[in-house]
Amino acid sequence: MTDAPTLTATLALVAGSRATARIEGGRASIILDVTGLDAAAREALEAQVIEAARGVAGIETVRVAQTSQRTRRRLIAVASGKGGVGKSTVAANLAIALHQLGRSVGLVDADIYGPSQPKLLGVENTRPQAKDKVLQPVPTPFGVPLLSMGQLVAPDQAIAWRGPMVSGALGQLVDADWGAADTLVLDLPPGTGDVQLTMIQKHRPAGAVIVSTPQDLALIDARRAIDLFAKAGVPVIGVVENMAGYLCPHCGEVSDPFGRGGAEAAANDLGVPFLGRVPLDVAIRAASDAGAPPVAGNGPEAAAFTAMAGRVADWLDQGAE
Ligand code: ADP
Repeated sequence: MTDAPTLTATLALVAGSRATARIEGGRASIILDVTGLDAAAREALEAQVIEAARGVAGIETVRVAQTSQRTRRRLIAVASGKGGVGKSTVAANLAIALHQLGRSVGLVDADIYGPSQPKLLGVENTRPQAKDKVLQPVPTPFGVPLLSMGQLVAPDQAIAWRGPMVSGALGQLVDADWGAADTLVLDLPPGTGDVQLTMIQKHRPAGAVIVSTPQDLALIDARRAIDLFAKAGVPVIGVVENMAGYLCPHCGEVSDPFGRGGAEAAANDLGVPFLGRVPLDVAIRAASDAGAPPVAGNGPEAAAFTAMAGRVADWLDQGAE
């Protein structure tokens, strides 16, 4: 007659230390620790465990209960005072660069006004599935799974999002099956509206990255966004100055259509870190439009994003809550 330790040892061949077994009569009850596995890996492991248990003499029926310890997952909110400053571009490239630095990262596109991440990550035609009412993030070619508000509604469908809808939709995205992801980058809509408030109250980000162009008007709005997080007690990881310094592809001259250094000066002024400057570069726009985020390519434009992500990774490593 097989005893529980023998069965557990057999299961260890397929499940390592994840499976523990109990036996009553010919019936095996197995507890399977699936911490850190995504839905597909969990299913595959359970199937292997059932098959292995069934192969053991004396076992007639097999029951498996999955358990998992909650991964401590930290949210990084990427915000801007106004639209069109490159917030989504920064969020996508930040998430990918953090992944390149060895982190397990997911990306949540919560920009209800213009969800652009499916396009930026080249997965516009993929819809997420739900399993037991839990959304399964869409894999992308860049190693960062994605869920977007845009995937919850039909393409080109305009919807007037109201507070409770926003709150429900955001909850579905954040509490989805993120598997092993320990960091979620959240692309917020511009401004300081419902999504920001819900996110701060319900999902408590670890920190916020504020994106601004260098010119004054954007900075006034950026200061408002910084103020919102500061008042809510969410640490501002830092400010990114986007579209700074235009390198003319014809004459090679660098000019500053939106000014230069404004975001850095404002960051200093407000006592928040400066995370770096991303140039206004036609290659960034072209790659982004083509669903090939610049940080995943070999061009010189990747460097600015990598440097910025390095500073965010340092901040995360310092264990800031
Ligand atoms: P937001 O999320 O703030 O509305 P997006 O990230 O969607 O802004 O960017 C708006 C437009 O500007 C996009 O077409 C994007 O490709 C382009 N863009 C963003 N950052 C840069 C940059 N540094 N250089 C060139 N184009 C950029």
